[in-house]
Amino acid sequence: MSRTVKDYIRSIADFPHEGIVFRDVTTLFADARGFRMAIDQLLHPYAGVRIDRVAGLEARGFILGGALAHQLSTGFVPIRKKGKLPGTVISEAYQLEYGEAVMEIHDDALQPGERVLIVDDLLATGGTAEAGIKLCRRLGAEVIGCAFVIDLPELGGRKRLEEMGMPVHALCEFE
Ligand code: 5GP
Repeated sequence: MSRTVKDYIRSIADFPHEGIVFRDVTTLFADARGFRMAIDQLLHPYAGVRIDRVAGLEARGFILGGALAHQLSTGFVPIRKKGKLPGTVISEAYQLEYGEAVMEIHDDALQPGERVLIVDDLLATGGTAEAGIKLCRRLGAEVIGCAFVIDLPELGGRKRLEEMGMPVHALCEFE
């Protein structure tokens, strides 16, 4: 039987905290067949769809987003954690389990009307992706979808994004 994308993902117990099972995509990215399969499958729903830019969520979304942008012959835009981007930014705060996080984008990274695909490795509560969508929308761009390697359906991220009118594409699920 040939391996699926999910088969390349390693699960690591008690990282970053006791009781958490971390889904580690470095083993997927490190494998030539695995990585190519993931990029091909991430792009599959968008064949024939106009995409002007790919926006990647820090940090593993950069690895995926660079490959997707190259494949689509589009530019790549990073959406980063607070304080990392050198130019003028706009910011969007979101709730974490304990406290708050902030994502940022350069204020000239997208033009009004541009069609953007957002990508990250994993969708959990959807807070990070929601912040990314809001940032793109504030610059006048149209987010045409969000693509993830992994969806954790129990954490409700897909529902949350779909309620914002955002189509979600994920390659596999973990409990
Ligand atoms: P959310 O904002 O949807 O709750 O969390 C998603 C963000 O947390 C993503 O940027 C993702 O990279 C990161 N993340 C949370 N848990 C995991 C995990 O188990 N594995 C990986 N690879 N990323 C995770």
